[in-house]
Amino acid sequence: MKAVISGSFDPVTRGHVDIIRRAWRLFDQVVVGVAVNSSKNGIFSMEERVELVEAAVEGMSSVSVAPVDGLLVDFCAEQGADVIVRGLRFGGDFDYELQMAHMNKAMSGIETVLLPAGREYGTISSSIIRSAASNGGDVGEFVPEAVSEALRHRFGDASQT
Ligand code: ADP
Repeated sequence: MKAVISGSFDPVTRGHVDIIRRAWRLFDQVVVGVAVNSSKNGIFSMEERVELVEAAVEGMSSVSVAPVDGLLVDFCAEQGADVIVRGLRFGGDFDYELQMAHMNKAMSGIETVLLPAGREYGTISSSIIRSAASNGGDVGEFVPEAVSEALRHRFGDASQT
């Protein structure tokens, strides 16, 4: 079975990597679809986000990364994917993910598999990482090394101030 994991990954966090790794173990092939970030306070370009996800999944041989332009269900059809995998953190995620899962199923028949967030990662979000890092916070505990470096490069090194 082939799974698509979608998100804006701005930036990819250890919570995302945990979901990707678990999906990698469950499915024959995994494609990480990096979507256009509609958030006004985005940090990284599409190219940068794809590169950072690629660095984070290094060594997971059956995982590939590709940009998503347009409808996720169209991307899934192009990729020949059987399921969409999404991570589920708290209450708000559930309401949104249920709506998305039903809409995607109605549009194309594709099923969505929701994986519960890992216990250590359930409160990490890209937006809180953006907010902390852009104000000089050290978020190294929550993101892969390459993201930590990219954030330091973008916002300066809090530990040096
Ligand atoms: P989107 O903008 O589509 O919500 P995100 O990049 O924020 O994209 O998230 C992509 C997917 O990863 C979503 O299913 C989201 O619930 C899940 N996710 C985000 N953060 C975590 C985390 N810390 N642990 C597990 N899943 C997560």
